[in-house]
Amino acid sequence: MVAKKSNEKKQTDEQHDVLKSTQTVIQKALSKLGYSDEVYELLKEPIRMMTVKIPVRMDDGTVKIFTGYRAQHNDAVGPTKGGIRFHPHVTEKEVKALSIWMSLKCGIVDLPYGGGKGGIVCDPRDMSFRELERLSRGYVRAISQIVGPTKDIPAPDVFTNSQIMAWMMDEYSRIDEFNSPGFITGKPLVLGGSHGRETATAKGVTICIREAAKKKGISIEGARVVVQGFGNAGSFLAKFMHDAGAKIIGISDAYGALHDPEGLDIDYLLDRRDSFGTVTNLFNKTITNQELLELECDILVPAAIENQITEKNADNIKASIVVEAANGPTTLEATRILTEKGVLLVPDVLASAGGVTVSYFEWVQNNQGYYWTEEEVEERLEKVMSKSFENIYETAQVRRVDMRLAAYMVGVRKMAEASRFRGWI
Ligand code: GLU
Repeated sequence: MVAKKSNEKKQTDEQHDVLKSTQTVIQKALSKLGYSDEVYELLKEPIRMMTVKIPVRMDDGTVKIFTGYRAQHNDAVGPTKGGIRFHPHVTEKEVKALSIWMSLKCGIVDLPYGGGKGGIVCDPRDMSFRELERLSRGYVRAISQIVGPTKDIPAPDVFTNSQIMAWMMDEYSRIDEFNSPGFITGKPLVLGGSHGRETATAKGVTICIREAAKKKGISIEGARVVVQGFGNAGSFLAKFMHDAGAKIIGISDAYGALHDPEGLDIDYLLDRRDSFGTVTNLFNKTITNQELLELECDILVPAAIENQITEKNADNIKASIVVEAANGPTTLEATRILTEKGVLLVPDVLASAGGVTVSYFEWVQNNQGYYWTEEEVEERLEKVMSKSFENIYETAQVRRVDMRLAAYMVGVRKMAEASRFRGWI
């Protein structure tokens, strides 16, 4: 556990409104595709949003009431799917936006799902193992009526991991009176998890970086890479890029950032990070997260939280490729500024779709009771991600739009079509 308090900005509704900007791009994408306003009315908000109160007996004997959410954006294509975030700044609006992004991701990589998302307002860094278990189980009891292997399938997200998925799966299995591995993905291997799930988001981002670098004529060997965030996505990504011959010149966590123009010792940092991705507290000489984003580099990967590249700092970004491993790290105004500067920006809904892709593989394996090798998972992920990248890149070229709008156009189309066939619109 980390004693030091982070300088993470509070994600309030007054701050940049991620729901509103997602709705803006959805509306643009639908109108480019020629859909009516009714389609936008259906897709601009989740079809279902549950708010729950979860009483948890804390280790000191007191009871604390936590607030949780589960949003289901659209289930025309199939059951909804998406992670659960444990974070002190989770808001209802944020969870709604995150569920819409999940729908888009599933459309982009062509999975038979709609999008969902959950969140609990809590700080797991200040909670004990047993308190976290009680909170995880309480959340599942509270949302059990609207989730399930053929309804809505959760997964890990910020500050949740395979242990939390295991408790949640166990709790759901008790309620369901069946062993239900397909209720949730991102489980430990021994409980029906999939090979390659833990590294899937980072692998997907790595594939996008490789493809983007090809388009820009940049060689990965020796490329200067900056990664913001050292959690599940950021840390594995730094490792994969380092192993591919890139120079990781900057990394960060919620407390600060490290910079070495000669390249950081990634294996050492991975070894020293705690389970929340904290590592900079071990160093005296750090820079801020803002300074990190503006470093001279070739490839910048925001892999932390929302609203990191805004109209305030977009002009100072030096990278020629920005690949969004986090959800929503770049505002729309910043997207415009970067695109005008000639930066190739690979949007979150494409770049971070490797996680849900391998979650889908995990769910398929659970449903079949037949498990794949690591090579099989990797091969299939490679195919899905490189094909999806090419599809979005081509759409952007042909339609003369930026990569974000192209991704939204591809992501939203299947949902709109499925809703039409069902007779909803
Ligand atoms: N939380 C991850 C995401 O935002 C993964 C979701 C999943 O695997 O269902 O894409």
